[in-house]
Amino acid sequence: MSSRGRSRAVKAPASVVSSVSVVSVVSESNVVVESVPESVPSTQGTPTFGKSDSDWDIAAPAAAKSVTESVTNSVTNSVTESAESVASVAESDPDVLKEYKSFDEMELPEELLRGVYASGFERPSDIQTKAIIPMKEGRDVLAQAPSGTGKTAMFLIGGFTRIDISRNEVQMVVISPTRELADQTGNVAKALGTFMGLRYHLATGGVGVDTDLEKLGRGSTAIPHLLVVTPGRFYDLLTRKAVKPATIRVLVLDEADQLLDAKFKEQIQTIMSEPFIWPASTQVALVSATMIPAIAATAKTLLVRNPVTILREADEVSLEGIRQFCIKLDREDQKLMTLCDLSDHLTIKQCTIFVNTRAKAEWLMEQMRRQGFDLDCIHGDMDLKERKRRMDSFRAGKIRVLIATDLLARGIDVQQISLVINYELPVSRENYIHRIGRSGRFGRKGASINLLDAREVRIQAEIEEFYGKKVEDLPMDLDIY
Ligand code: AMP
Repeated sequence: MSSRGRSRAVKAPASVVSSVSVVSVVSESNVVVESVPESVPSTQGTPTFGKSDSDWDIAAPAAAKSVTESVTNSVTNSVTESAESVASVAESDPDVLKEYKSFDEMELPEELLRGVYASGFERPSDIQTKAIIPMKEGRDVLAQAPSGTGKTAMFLIGGFTRIDISRNEVQMVVISPTRELADQTGNVAKALGTFMGLRYHLATGGVGVDTDLEKLGRGSTAIPHLLVVTPGRFYDLLTRKAVKPATIRVLVLDEADQLLDAKFKEQIQTIMSEPFIWPASTQVALVSATMIPAIAATAKTLLVRNPVTILREADEVSLEGIRQFCIKLDREDQKLMTLCDLSDHLTIKQCTIFVNTRAKAEWLMEQMRRQGFDLDCIHGDMDLKERKRRMDSFRAGKIRVLIATDLLARGIDVQQISLVINYELPVSRENYIHRIGRSGRFGRKGASINLLDAREVRIQAEIEEFYGKKVEDLPMDLDIY
């Protein structure tokens, strides 16, 4: 962890937070990434996703309901479902069982395959063995797989097979809940699509829309094939007719359970409803590490093209590779000193400390800085340029400890993060898994430490029970590592 005042690294429990090798496929982006998506008006309109009601009827009876209705009905109780009910939505499709154990076997276009290998991907991950081919076949996909197991490359490789590079139009759209994730996805796309001549563009809120309009404009001879967007900006671009659903072959909702839940629900339902006319042929992929039953039910109403569903049992998303520890305290006000002590005894590459509110992130950063630690914080209330600067600096390893709200809980892939500290347990059980999944990327070793006051001890017990994974007390003798 960043040490007090200087770059002194404190000692690491090696087996908890072992060093990681860095394979970076991410290149620098010039695009500014920033905060909260703009709000969009809600719609009462009939859903048009899939064009006609009959499309919804034929393939999936539930889809005949309006998207609005489906989404509204299914977002209640998001954190109170039992493990049993999660298990009950897990299902297997016999077709999914066909696994492609190598990228060669998948018969990907040559230039795409080159991008895959140039990205350092030798073999497909589990989710890639199962889901790339259904995407290539134009089928709708609901794919749940643990954090850090290659979901981004899965939907990008699958989607890229559907893109006709010779066409000067947007053919694939990826919707991401945060600008940081959108930025990261765009960079992975750039690496994978480089030999194809793929053009991509990031369009996120908070920065002027003019550049987007210029790139997407009728006169442009280099319209992006792939658009990576945050929901509010996508709505804006659809409204301005800068993007036309008619040309979109693949629509991906990344972190789909978040996009279909409270904060984004209206935006997504609006995007997928009138007045936007979506062709029946637009393929939909919904991707996430967590998928609560109510959201999975809504998600399925969007999947009508010979869909493939890959869901996981709750105990299968618990990230076995990440060692989970806790420190039990009597009171919340003991956390700060405990964290400072802990920081003096850990040597790690990079660490993220999660808190629940923006104010707490600022407060903790100030307190830790006063104690001489060199760290930053990031949250959605921050000046957008500053937010990007801090994220870039963390990715580059210039800052080794970043305090964050759940803005960074999902999807963010910084392979050097070997430790996640939950200064406060998250409000949502799903975000616990997402948070700790920031360490231990793609099979690397990782660890998490929860700082618990008396109330949180009980919350942790519920999390342990739900995911079927014991969180151990952090041993006193750190040298045992
Ligand atoms: P994701 O779950 O999409 O955030 O990916 C997690 C990490 O795994 C990223 O750093 C990817 O670059 C890496 N990754 C994805 N697919 C592969 C693969 N087939 N082989 C090696 N690394 C991969």
